[in-house]
Amino acid sequence: MTQPWRVGILGCGGLGKTAAAVLEPREEMRLVAMCDTHGWAHRPEGIAASEVEPLAPGDTLASLPIGRASDDPIGEVIALAAAGEIDGLFLALPNLPSDFIPSVIRRIAESGFQGVSVDALKRTVAVEAILALDDVIREAGMIHMTGCGATPGLLTAAAALAAQSFQTIEDVQIEFGVGIANWEAYRATVREDIAHQRGMDFERARAMTDEEVERFLDEREGILELHEMEHADDIMLEQAGVVTRERVKVGGIVDTRHARKPVSTNVRVTGVTFEGRRSTHTFTLGDETSMAANVNGPAFGYMKTGLWLRGRGITGVFTSADVMPRFVR
Ligand code: NAD
Repeated sequence: MTQPWRVGILGCGGLGKTAAAVLEPREEMRLVAMCDTHGWAHRPEGIAASEVEPLAPGDTLASLPIGRASDDPIGEVIALAAAGEIDGLFLALPNLPSDFIPSVIRRIAESGFQGVSVDALKRTVAVEAILALDDVIREAGMIHMTGCGATPGLLTAAAALAAQSFQTIEDVQIEFGVGIANWEAYRATVREDIAHQRGMDFERARAMTDEEVERFLDEREGILELHEMEHADDIMLEQAGVVTRERVKVGGIVDTRHARKPVSTNVRVTGVTFEGRRSTHTFTLGDETSMAANVNGPAFGYMKTGLWLRGRGITGVFTSADVMPRFVR
């Protein structure tokens, strides 16, 4: 695998399109393939972000000049990857139902692909399902990096780093603020957050029509408050040896009507040092950084780490708390 590494993005919604824009100025990676529900695109010389940017929510790549229609667009991109046309795959797909992304990763592993795939999964059950694929991934000769968005992802890694000052960790508290001007730009993300609301579950959120989502948001003036979420930061920090999962708490506020963040995204790690002093490290993201910046940046940073490890003959599943992301120039 030589630079620029050839990247495929599965999903061309809010995250997928912004991932294309994040990659555009980077010299070490080149976007060569994308897909969505009904279409896919492949160009070895590179796909420009401006070519997919005009796609409206719910529209498909198949309708764009660069796109082609298919009954199995994910399969088309996986076939390219298995044929050695792609080095790294980023899964910017919805995870409804919660075993959807794990099933795609199994498919990638069984295709013969020997590169690196990365997800930005959120739920504990989904990351657990990925960790259980470790043997399959190793036998396939690939690396999968899981939970590599913002949270889990950037904040989980920051917590693992912050923990090093302490002898014992008392708790890790993550609070995120997301501001998006229009919920339709991130349909899957908003649906998954609705699933965490009282009286809701993932099946119900998935089955909601767009009108029902709009009514649900109207009733809350566009604000979703999230407490004690089932979020994979817990199992990832447990696996990294930082803290047991019940000591990790994740919550946040999502404003689906304004781009401004309702609260600053932060992670607080409280522990006791070897001298017996209790203290808290706080890592706060700048309010100007969007969800897209804080998810896509780490995802490609972890892809670079995966490619580096893969080049050294290493295979298997890693989380964002296991290794540091490298920076994609
Ligand atoms: P979206 O709804 O805007 O876009 C999803 C894309 O996937 C669309 O292009 C859609 O056509 C495509 N798609 C859906 N089903 C498909 C299928 N069966 N085959 C092929 N393509 C399919 O979604 P989004 O808001 O960009 O979110 C994507 C994912 O990113 C979500 O799972 C969300 O949880 C995750 N996310 C993670 C973090 C984090 O910090 N870890 C933050 C934000 C979003």
